[in-house]
Amino acid sequence: MIIVLKPNIAKSAEAAVIKGIRALGYQPHIMRGVARTVIGAIGDEITHKSLETLASTFPQAVESVLPIQKRYKLVSREAHPSNSTVKVGKHVIGGKKFHVMAGPCSVESEKQLLTTAVAVAKAGATMLRGGAFKPRTSPYEFQGLGEKGLKLLAKARQETGLPVITELLSENQAELVAEYSDILQIGARNAQNFQLLIAAAKTGRPVLLKRGLSMRIEEWLLAGEYVLANENPNLMFCERGIRTFETYTRNTLDLSTIPIIKKEAHSPIVIDPSQGAGRADLVVAMCKGAAAMGADALLIEVHPNPAEAWSDGAQQLTLDNFAKLMKELKPFIKAAGRE
Ligand code: PEP
Ligand code: MN
Repeated sequence: MIIVLKPNIAKSAEAAVIKGIRALGYQPHIMRGVARTVIGAIGDEITHKSLETLASTFPQAVESVLPIQKRYKLVSREAHPSNSTVKVGKHVIGGKKFHVMAGPCSVESEKQLLTTAVAVAKAGATMLRGGAFKPRTSPYEFQGLGEKGLKLLAKARQETGLPVITELLSENQAELVAEYSDILQIGARNAQNFQLLIAAAKTGRPVLLKRGLSMRIEEWLLAGEYVLANENPNLMFCERGIRTFETYTRNTLDLSTIPIIKKEAHSPIVIDPSQGAGRADLVVAMCKGAAAMGADALLIEVHPNPAEAWSDGAQQLTLDNFAKLMKELKPFIKAAGRE
């Protein structure tokens, strides 16, 4: 930690702070500037964690206490300078190959899911998405098919060979959902449900962590820390738009998270333009932008008949539009140095 002292304080006040730092179990390193002094406090921040109190113990002398280490120690690129990759079946996310996870918002029926799965596989998607447990804003909206939906996802995986990603809503369903899926999705509404993150991590399945609706990037990174701290290295971040003053789009898809996550963390970054824009007509452009900016994968909603979808109809691509998008994406993937 760095302790910044107020300018021109008395020597005795400075000495009191230094004594206070030692009393807390840290070694002070004093750096004197022209007007003010800055003290580096070296010690074990994980077990002590008490230096913040200096600002209230010595209000006349201490201006601020600043961390020099990242709070997200395991997620930080400082801890792991090279990119981490996540193995899903025969696929590797975060490596040279760009991945597209596609499928309906919700699993509705065998026909709907299998038609979509076969079509997205043919168009070049490498993973199948589909919600069996749905986090709906209203309790009167379709809540998902539950375990029946999981069974349909497993069937679709068997028929197409596509690994499956589906949302885990509740801690007590962690084992059940993990049994049927290859990646556990933690939704935006649960992104800071820490007990759920721990339960997801403990299944050992890869975890795709969406960004919460009003979550700061640091909070998101710290939520990811829960996965790594629970001995599951297979973490992916997924930007899906945040809530802003804008109403033209459902959310504001923050593509700046691509270079930011790449800089701060070593885990892959996935972009979900479907929840991000909330409008099918904007999804294609956002996908191209995300691919060109260096995202590792996309998570895209696709439905055989979006007008009749049981959830998120306005943002789901038709099978034809998805196939067209996959073709149009190619130069953008190449431009980012990926395959
Ligand atoms: C979804 O992927 O369908 C979904 C509910 O996502 P989010 O948690 O980002 O809203
Ligand atoms: Mn959705």
